[in-house]
Amino acid sequence: MPNGDKEYIAYFSMEIGISHKIPTYSGGLGMLAGDLLKSFADMRIPVVGITLLNEKGYFLQEIDAEGNQIEKPVQWSPAEQLTLLPNQVIVTIEGREVKIRCWKLIINGLTHHQVPVLFLDTNIEGNSEYDRTLTSFLYGGDSAYRLCQEMVLGIGGVRMLESLGYSIRKYHMNEGHAALLTVELYRRNFNESLDIEAIKDKCVFTTHTPIAAGHDKFNLDMFRHITGNSVPESVIAESITDGKFNMTLLGLNFSRYINGVAIRHGEVTREMFPHYHIDSITNGVHPATWTSSNFKSIFDKHLQEWGMDPYSLRYVLSVPKEEIWNAHFEAKKELINEVNERTGAGFHELRFTIGCARRFTPYKRPDLILYDVERLKRVAAIVGDIQIIFAGKAHMKDYAGKALIKKVITIAKNINKENGKVKIVFLENYDISLARKMVAGCDIWLNNPQRPLEASGTSGMKAALNGVPQISTLDGWWLEGHIENITGWSLGPHPNDPGFNIDPDMVDEANDLYTKLESIIIPTFYGNRDKWIEIMRHCIAINASFFNSYRMAQQYLTNAYQ
Ligand SMILES: *Cc1c(COP(=O)(O)O)cnc(C)c1O
Repeated sequence: MPNGDKEYIAYFSMEIGISHKIPTYSGGLGMLAGDLLKSFADMRIPVVGITLLNEKGYFLQEIDAEGNQIEKPVQWSPAEQLTLLPNQVIVTIEGREVKIRCWKLIINGLTHHQVPVLFLDTNIEGNSEYDRTLTSFLYGGDSAYRLCQEMVLGIGGVRMLESLGYSIRKYHMNEGHAALLTVELYRRNFNESLDIEAIKDKCVFTTHTPIAAGHDKFNLDMFRHITGNSVPESVIAESITDGKFNMTLLGLNFSRYINGVAIRHGEVTREMFPHYHIDSITNGVHPATWTSSNFKSIFDKHLQEWGMDPYSLRYVLSVPKEEIWNAHFEAKKELINEVNERTGAGFHELRFTIGCARRFTPYKRPDLILYDVERLKRVAAIVGDIQIIFAGKAHMKDYAGKALIKKVITIAKNINKENGKVKIVFLENYDISLARKMVAGCDIWLNNPQRPLEASGTSGMKAALNGVPQISTLDGWWLEGHIENITGWSLGPHPNDPGFNIDPDMVDEANDLYTKLESIIIPTFYGNRDKWIEIMRHCIAINASFFNSYRMAQQYLTNAYQ
């Protein structure tokens, strides 16, 4: 139960990824939320997380013999992982009174401070069949379903916190899904003295994507029909773009502090929303979650305070090189075993291994390295064997993303048949536990989104914690973390280069990738181990010491919550 002496930060997110045992998350947004809450727990900050139960999860991914993605409901038992609380609140949705209860999870910080996370649940006797499904599927259903979910999260979340007795200092919206919390705060003040500025002082908004489709917009008639009188017309009028109700605008209008999730993303967001003051706080990842057990042992031995104080990771420069290499090699063996058990592809732990895992969707261009397969084979023939591990889900309605999965799998099958110097696998069902193995066990992390669409990216930061360098387009966090030949490699031009073209031909970037693999990266890996390990240490010392959720949490505290 809340500590009555304390005022809490309430952190609202449609998904919160804490552990693979609680499959209520989809990807980057949820993982970031989980990592931030874990750091707040480590730092003893009074915070409470609010999300939806997502009882059937996002989906379990299977791939059929033809390379088609099959989505299955996730089977898990909330009662085994979470504690049901007795409190219930009601939100009126489309004229129906929908009952909401919640389940609690405690995140135990390294300091034993506890951060509660509340999972809202409408699957309660007395609710209609439809309303009972409102907290079933993350990002499922149609836009009416999504809006109902967002009423549960935003309005239901505020009411649940009140019912549980929390006193809230700041409401933090992690993306627009939770923005209806502002109208609940507004409604409470509406009849008395209306003070928007006082509400703004309480609200923080973080935006995560420069892609228009990533911002929820609802048909106005539907919006009025479903929300009823929850949202005053004066508020609706201020939140319309292209004739639709825009959840991001709602969140922006009621927030004093707004941020993007990397410096470049802050710039891009200011261009999208020129009338707002928008800051940036670059994402980070939770060190204890994403560091492999092998590297944990080294850090425990040489940098005792690294978990609570990841800045001390900079001193990894004095850790002997063979210890770094051995830790990596152990993590790599585990990953290669997993690959061979799952696929029988005959991967080998001594071969250069590239990891490429993320949501499959066109702008992330997972097929870039397969742009010219003959060229890729020539590179391997000249400088040595190449193994590539792909993973990632496509949203069930992202047909172009699903086609990319099929394309990668088809190319992989053909190339593996030749039994040559290039081998490729696609691993099913990318989740926290697979991600942990991949970011630690690959030799290099590949990320090649189309600029400027990658808000931040975080998996390359997880790799850095394990001494794994990244090769990536200069977008998102990589514009801040990239030092050529020191922390990894760039792909394509820098946005400040003269004549920079925002939308370069894919072939130029693919050529850049093949050229760097052939001329510098793979020869260093096979031929200059000493230099390679120096790069690994720099990944940790320069990037993991900064791109972690501890630094991010401190910036939210000082910049957003003060
Ligand atoms: C880290 C992570 C993501 C997000 O990775 P990005 O590089 O930000 O795209 C997605 N899914 C899982 C399972 C992850 O661990």
